[in-house]
Amino acid sequence: ILMHAIRKYIIVTGGVLSGLGKGIAAASIGHLLSSQYKVVPMKLDGYLNVDPGTMNPYEHGEVFVLDDGGEVDMDFGHYERFLNTTCKFEHNLTMGKVFEEIRAKERRGDYLGKTVQFIPHVVEAIKEKIHATAEKENADILLIEVGGTVGDMESDLYIEAMRQLQDEVGEENILYVHLTYVPIPAGVHEQKSKPTQQSVYELRRRGIQPDVIIGRCQEILTTEIKGKIASFCGVDKKAIFTGLDVDNVYKIPFLLEEEGIVEIMKKKLKLEIISVDDPWKQLLHNLEHPTREISIALCGKYTSLTDSYASIKEALMHCSAHTKAKIQIKFIETTDIEQGNICAAEMLQGIDGVIVPGGFGSRGVEGKLAVIRYCRENKIPLLGICFGLQLMVVEFARDVCLLENANTTEVDQHTMHPVVDLMTEQKAITAKGATMRLGAYISYLREGSLARRLYNSEIVSERHRHRYEVNQQYHQFLEENGLSISGLYLEKNLAEFIELKDHPYFIATQAHPELKSKLSTPAPLFLGLVKAAMDKSIYYSSSNP
Ligand code: GLN
Repeated sequence: ILMHAIRKYIIVTGGVLSGLGKGIAAASIGHLLSSQYKVVPMKLDGYLNVDPGTMNPYEHGEVFVLDDGGEVDMDFGHYERFLNTTCKFEHNLTMGKVFEEIRAKERRGDYLGKTVQFIPHVVEAIKEKIHATAEKENADILLIEVGGTVGDMESDLYIEAMRQLQDEVGEENILYVHLTYVPIPAGVHEQKSKPTQQSVYELRRRGIQPDVIIGRCQEILTTEIKGKIASFCGVDKKAIFTGLDVDNVYKIPFLLEEEGIVEIMKKKLKLEIISVDDPWKQLLHNLEHPTREISIALCGKYTSLTDSYASIKEALMHCSAHTKAKIQIKFIETTDIEQGNICAAEMLQGIDGVIVPGGFGSRGVEGKLAVIRYCRENKIPLLGICFGLQLMVVEFARDVCLLENANTTEVDQHTMHPVVDLMTEQKAITAKGATMRLGAYISYLREGSLARRLYNSEIVSERHRHRYEVNQQYHQFLEENGLSISGLYLEKNLAEFIELKDHPYFIATQAHPELKSKLSTPAPLFLGLVKAAMDKSIYYSSSNP
């Protein structure tokens, strides 16, 4: 293998239990290096799905979409936001992808009559992917997160590949970071090291000696516990860090930095890291010192699992950091409205702005339509995303254009007025995996439109994940009735943005702008919504004291 001059590898594994925030820990470490080095993140998942695109959001949280159309999990959102980078689908390895490739190679006869085995063939395939990505991206540092928990059968092949990597790249070029859990059992009031010891034992049994341990804990780890972990796990005491429970994950890089993680990375990897002024610090300060508060309703159907809307919550938080408005997010379950338990007006009481997010299927749709109608008629700022756009068109068609029972054919196949319909190229597709219109597409924004003003640009690129579109046979009719199609994908005449003029903020996009929002550069449509909601809340507080 051809080696890049200073290429370094940081491997992040996790122990004890899942959900400790391995992705955030990895992204935080990467953040501290990303202003000086080209850090390329990779994630190795043990599951046999090719990608999470076909998984239920209840089970797997939000599906994150990349520019290249790859469907990946939420951790890639953290990577892009923390490293200010654009990830690619091949940065996510899944066992589904690995086996697909091994099978294809075997069928082609590439193994030349050999018995194809987990070791060496699967492990070699994993390493090849890693080296290929490092080369292609010309990475200074490859940041590799091994999904799952050490000890899970399904991550063992990855762990073995990570162990072998050290022999290939040299000890001074690889840093093994292990994230564990340090509980403080109720009634004991003491930080406990045993789970960490056991999990490091599992890792060492597989041939990996960690260089750094991060103990997730509700308190800063004490010197005593660090000493104990150090002696049991054979790790320098200074290389043990706290993965503190925090209200805002953007603080984590700085907490690790304060505890000295940069020194450890410098020493082990022989990196020259100089400390730089990080613009995040000011933005975090703004978040901690809000000057006012507004409330935004998020109307969806997976609201019981708020992880399904992770990037939307992120985007709103980014807006808070720039406007100093603290945002209360109220999750509204639109099936409740639909079942007639409560009406939209009641649900939206005290709300300054509303988001109708992406979604699939018919459950909750009538509730969402009721919310949209209420916002349109009562001039409540409203942002529609993807399915949200489609339903805003349906509502407009029904209530303004008076097309009775207009609908999207996703909800009603036999509607008389299919104002939203499958895209032509989708009509013949039956397979579910990676078959939607996925990834970044360019829209042209109409001159004088709100969309153009918000983006301050004529051309924008946003990411997509959908099968349906505003039916082109209705474009003209909708426009004549006052709905402006303010952004188009010209090649196929797809409506990418819609808006209303005589409304303080009624705009929607077929794309998912939340996916590209960053702490330093919030997504324009979200920032616009927050500002419109702030204006509305001033209006209300001065008129009803
Ligand atoms: N269900 C709609 C479609 O497939 C919207 C998808 C979404 O909101 N991501 O077009």
